[in-house]
Amino acid sequence: MGRWTWLAAAATAAIVLGIGIGWMLSGKESAQPAPEAKFAEWELTTGSVAARMAAAAPLARPQATQSAPQQFPQAPTPSPQARPAAAVPSAAPTKVAAARCANPDALGVTRLVAIDTTGGPGFGSEQFKAYDFLEAGEVVLTFDDGPWPNNTPAVLAALAAQCVKATFFPIGKHSTWHPEILKQVVARDHTIGAHTWSHVNLAKKTLAEAKDEIENGFSAVAISAGRPPAPFFRFPGLSQTPELTAYLAQRNIGIFSADLDSFDFKLKNPDKVITSVMSKLDKRGKGIILMHDFQHSTAVALPTLLQQLKAKGFKIVHMKAKDAVVTLPQYDAAMLKAQTGQTADARPTASVVRTIDDGQ
Ligand SMILES: [Zn+2]
Repeated sequence: MGRWTWLAAAATAAIVLGIGIGWMLSGKESAQPAPEAKFAEWELTTGSVAARMAAAAPLARPQATQSAPQQFPQAPTPSPQARPAAAVPSAAPTKVAAARCANPDALGVTRLVAIDTTGGPGFGSEQFKAYDFLEAGEVVLTFDDGPWPNNTPAVLAALAAQCVKATFFPIGKHSTWHPEILKQVVARDHTIGAHTWSHVNLAKKTLAEAKDEIENGFSAVAISAGRPPAPFFRFPGLSQTPELTAYLAQRNIGIFSADLDSFDFKLKNPDKVITSVMSKLDKRGKGIILMHDFQHSTAVALPTLLQQLKAKGFKIVHMKAKDAVVTLPQYDAAMLKAQTGQTADARPTASVVRTIDDGQ
């Protein structure tokens, strides 16, 4: 991991210089118009000042206003079980997080699965049927589009209060704006994947542009988090193409669709978000739930939603990756260069990014 320490150190050192980089880069892509996709979430405009400021407003409910602390005790790393989730559901349920949970009435994590993403398996019945690894009553919590001030820390606080772990799909650009928040997600032992660089509709891009979006997203998240994320990818708007799923398969990156979409980005009301999730869960009985830590209403809703999950007897499954994603050095270098604002006549990339371990 020395390579990542290197990158993280360089990125951190450049953070003051690069403070405006999000704005510089944000002009390139604007939000896409609503597509045919059922799960469109194009209202998110990563380059919009208004959207950023509105979303960063303080939370409304007193119980959710506490920000997560800046420092967290180092939790012991749970040992992932060896079985690949692509062939999973065998293991006996155990309350894997209960032993170090301070809240005896917490929802907790019932089962930890290790996902082997070799060959790019897809998960989530909205688009994939092959690897339905959840048993009846089991739920996976996923949060997209962060990291974001106030909202992401509130989500982390709610998850911690119930000793629950989740999977986050951060946007690369957001991670460069708020690397300290992404590091909080990692420090709390949640799983992070990636969700493109700028949240464009990849189906409307050329193959080369779409690949750049995917790879820049992973590299940006890796640099901001200080370590490579899981090889877990979610398409913006769940808008995928056969060419891109084939590319991800070749890259050994798993694709995460959803079983249940909360539609929190449309509802924008905590009570409606809770009703949306619980009614769909009552009907389906299990599933990978798609929510957004970017969304204020979700951050407010989460404490109550988790209480209701427990009251109804649902069990939380936490996904980890068998191996971290292998980012591509040219994208790492490009992202680092973008974040530092270096020009072509600055130090050679090789003096900034040095491969210490190429995995050979
Ligand atoms: Zn999204």
